[in-house]
Amino acid sequence: MSHPAPPVAQRFRSFGKSIFAEMTAMATAHNAVNLSQGFPDFDGPDIARLAAIDAINKGHSQYAPMTGVPVLRQAIARAWARAGRPTIDPDAHITVTAGCSEAIGAALMGLLDPGDEVIIFEPYFDFYTAGAAMAGAVAKPVTLHSPDAAHPHDFWFDEAALRAAFTPRTRAIMVNTPHNPTGKVYSRAELELIAALCQQHNVTAISDEVYEQLTFNPAKPHISLATLPGMWERTITLSSLGKTFSLTGWKVGWSIAPPALTACVRAAHQFMVFSGSTPMQHGAAAVLDAGDAYCETLRRLFASNRDILSATLTRCGLTVYPSDSTYFLMADHSALGIGTDRAFCEHLTKVVGVAAIPPSVFYLTPGLGTNLVRFAFCKREETMREACRRLEAGLLKN
Ligand code: GLN
Repeated sequence: MSHPAPPVAQRFRSFGKSIFAEMTAMATAHNAVNLSQGFPDFDGPDIARLAAIDAINKGHSQYAPMTGVPVLRQAIARAWARAGRPTIDPDAHITVTAGCSEAIGAALMGLLDPGDEVIIFEPYFDFYTAGAAMAGAVAKPVTLHSPDAAHPHDFWFDEAALRAAFTPRTRAIMVNTPHNPTGKVYSRAELELIAALCQQHNVTAISDEVYEQLTFNPAKPHISLATLPGMWERTITLSSLGKTFSLTGWKVGWSIAPPALTACVRAAHQFMVFSGSTPMQHGAAAVLDAGDAYCETLRRLFASNRDILSATLTRCGLTVYPSDSTYFLMADHSALGIGTDRAFCEHLTKVVGVAAIPPSVFYLTPGLGTNLVRFAFCKREETMREACRRLEAGLLKN
């Protein structure tokens, strides 16, 4: 007797296939320049690679401690303090995870019970809603609107909408600054409002700060939410190695939180992966202490790439929104009349030869994001120039 194949569990059914897997596969199939999934097309610093190889050669091949190898947690504490933030304790406050992605899941699953509400700004990195679904929690969106005449430089949210999103069931808010996919850096005033609401409603903040080193505008510095008055006790800060040092495939991330919130993260983390890869943690420790000059070079490259890409997209008739950070920018493609974001990205990948991300998958509110497209600019300058050449050839009306 044949049985029907089991369906995907309900909690994942609405998510379909990850847009990053889908668009990278489409880019590969059509030989497109891949500006969709965000990863550099060059290697991270030698010091990281050599230290990881050395760790393998020295036999660091068994499980790391559940909380992470001590040398890495100490290096994370030093990096946190170097950025002017209060001293933290590597044992009590830091947990190393398998990339920030696992940290997002561990924080949401370790903190939330079924039916709890978590506020998520949209557009969002898709792991947030998937993580909420894994926890059985309810995601409540607050929209970041595109820049307009009143907010010419920034994606922005309505204060009343944020206030209204807090209910007696709200247990957490996901903050992501600097913000993927918009390139927004949350201002101190915005973070202060979030902090005040968290304290008023006894809500925990989960602050994903993986792009903390990739800011391009001195007038918009990165501020860690946990450093605001009253927020250390109620914030889980997440970060990682991948974006800062062009090592996205190493999957080394971490959480920083006071002991009670660290206990929540570790409760989930120990049963998700138990510990991250040991040699990569040794490589991560070496580069965290020595990589500041690398970050400076990276910031210069990415800011220049952003400018080259923005100018090309503008010439091609898109409305490009400012990006002060991360390695993404958003643009409005609707003037080109090619259809939805999905139709536009498919045309771009298959006909023009440049892959990008359709951002409607990053919204909970139906219909939002269909006029937008997200481009990654974390590539070698030659790669960006080739992408721009193809965009002009394929999109410029003559
Ligand atoms: N953070 C990366 C991006 O936004 C992708 C991560 C992933 O592939 N899941 O492009």
